Amino acid sequence: MNHTLSHDLFVRAQTLLPGGVNSPVRAFKSVGGEPFFAQRAEGAYLIDVDGNRYVDYIGSWGPMIAGHAHPQVLDAVAQVMRDGLSFGVPNALEVTMAETLTRLVPSCEMVRMVNSGTEATLSAIRLARGATGRNKIVKFEGCYHGHGDSFLVKAGSGMLTLGVPDSPGVPKALADLTLTLPYNDFDAATQLFELAGADIAGVIVEPIVGNANCILPRDGYLQHLRDLCTRYGALLIFDEVMTGFRVALGGAQQRYGITPDLSTFGKIIGGGMPVGAYGGRRDLMQQIAPSGPIYQAGTLSGNPVAMAAGLATLALIQAPGFYEKLERRTHQLCDGLEDAAREAGVAITTNRSCAMFGLFFTDRNVETFAEATACDVGAFRRFFHAMLRRGVYLAPSAYEAGFLSSMHGDIEISHTIEASREAFREARA
Ligand SMILES: *Cc1c(COP(=O)(O)O)cnc(C)c1O
Repeated sequence: MNHTLSHDLFVRAQTLLPGGVNSPVRAFKSVGGEPFFAQRAEGAYLIDVDGNRYVDYIGSWGPMIAGHAHPQVLDAVAQVMRDGLSFGVPNALEVTMAETLTRLVPSCEMVRMVNSGTEATLSAIRLARGATGRNKIVKFEGCYHGHGDSFLVKAGSGMLTLGVPDSPGVPKALADLTLTLPYNDFDAATQLFELAGADIAGVIVEPIVGNANCILPRDGYLQHLRDLCTRYGALLIFDEVMTGFRVALGGAQQRYGITPDLSTFGKIIGGGMPVGAYGGRRDLMQQIAPSGPIYQAGTLSGNPVAMAAGLATLALIQAPGFYEKLERRTHQLCDGLEDAAREAGVAITTNRSCAMFGLFFTDRNVETFAEATACDVGAFRRFFHAMLRRGVYLAPSAYEAGFLSSMHGDIEISHTIEASREAFREARA
């Protein structure tokens, strides 16, 4: 594979953009080597500036569940675009979007559109604090909620001690307000609430962790969090920026039958445009300005072009059988990868939830962040590059989930499994 043009662009980019990219994981730092630059994308494929084609298992980090450049999404955008790109006054598509979201996700009685997942989570914790009059936020090790200060915090030395900043620039005083728990540990959550329950405004969680590879909740774990929040008067916030409209039409909350107080969305609801949203109980959402005192605003929020792309995508995913087919494809892929690894004498395990999956280089089941980080990262790196050379693009980090789209069919999955037979051999040290 020739990467001359990508290399030249990366050289130019590195002098002007920090690390040569506008978002860190794109720089390939955790797998080594250089990123390729996209020229275009189509269905299940990314095509780079040097003309190389890759089966894409990232889908722009989640949004492209209907495949890249879907004609119905492009047509919707083209049509709306001709009437103007932004108005700064209300438009009808915002109302349609709110109707669609509240219908698909019943726990959201009202919603507010924003421009990214980060904005959605920041706004949701402000609302949780404003509505409860409490300051502490609980999050989980390995969960990612965007780059807001309150989320760039890791656990202190003792499990129940104050959080410490995970990035320079995050004030210690703010990090003190974020408490971090190990995901899937029932007792740790119970203990924390016994100790600090009266100060906790909200618990924010990725109901299925998709930012520490892919970790599923243990039976009853999300219900346990729901019960603790209810008992202590804290709000349960499901960050469904990744899982929303990916693991089921109604998100992880539908899959597991849990009703959070607030939810955050992004990625798929924008269909590839910059969009986020948060929503939840009416009595909470009514406390947001201008109907209530908790301030939150956005010049481009509810942008008509972004709403058009999102609505077209949300229309596609409501086709009968859409998720059943995706789930079958994911099993086909993961079963195939496990067989190929076994034949190559490499130990892997996979976690799956409908259109997302995790691949771990380990011989054990992975249910916790500690288990996810104990996998063989070196083997993943070699596997990643061996797959890339064969035209398969996996997430360039051992700690990211993989995504399928409805355009991933037999041809793409067979090609991926075939490529993996040799790639697993190369992954052996
Ligand atoms: C991607 C992601 C975010 C951040 O969304 P951005 O649009 O990148 O700001 C927040 N939470 C989760 C669970 C995510 O996967």
